[in-house]
Amino acid sequence: MNWFPNYTCMACGGEIQSSSNAYLCEKCLRNLPIMTETQTDHFSPFYYEEPIRSMILKLKYTSNGFIAKALAPYLAAVYLRLIQPTLSQQPIIIPVPLHRSRQHERGYNQSEVLAKELATYLNLPVIANVLTRARKTVIQKHMDAATRATNLRGAFKVDTTQTSVIQNKNILLIDDVYTTGATTHECAAVLRNNGARNIIILTLASTNFYNASKE
Ligand SMILES: [Zn+2]
Repeated sequence: MNWFPNYTCMACGGEIQSSSNAYLCEKCLRNLPIMTETQTDHFSPFYYEEPIRSMILKLKYTSNGFIAKALAPYLAAVYLRLIQPTLSQQPIIIPVPLHRSRQHERGYNQSEVLAKELATYLNLPVIANVLTRARKTVIQKHMDAATRATNLRGAFKVDTTQTSVIQNKNILLIDDVYTTGATTHECAAVLRNNGARNIIILTLASTNFYNASKE
């Protein structure tokens, strides 16, 4: 890995001149879509809007580890401010899994990359092999909420030889984007059915609730 400072903005590709951030130019830093709504059933530092949207797409489709490094501190901040105070027991971190064949195509799982970066800030364990994708699902970009939920039924399973790892544990479930919540809620249900105590969903970005309700 090349640790030389990066002088190109991760979001817009522009040159970084005097920004205090090694990953983002001043303009993108100023325009970060910081989440302002009160969050209860899931947590995100950002809305799924520019320049975060471009960064997440790059994280997803190019193996750009710098993007996870740049964004993990924002996840950590939300965890420390909003989640940790509510927990009586430290959680374990579980990333939303990709199907093995899809992970093989891409070479990595963006949620796992994010989870590992987050774990280095919080000093929490990441368990990436307990929750797995049982079958490959159709890409759900253009599906409505009900179709997504049906598409995902039975898509995840817990490795039954490892249920002791999650039993009675708090789980911090990590994904890149929360839109309808179908994916993360399905994962949470599977974890809960296998004995996990409390599942907290933390994603990098969430669709704006108002826009989502108009979809
Ligand atoms: Zn920029």
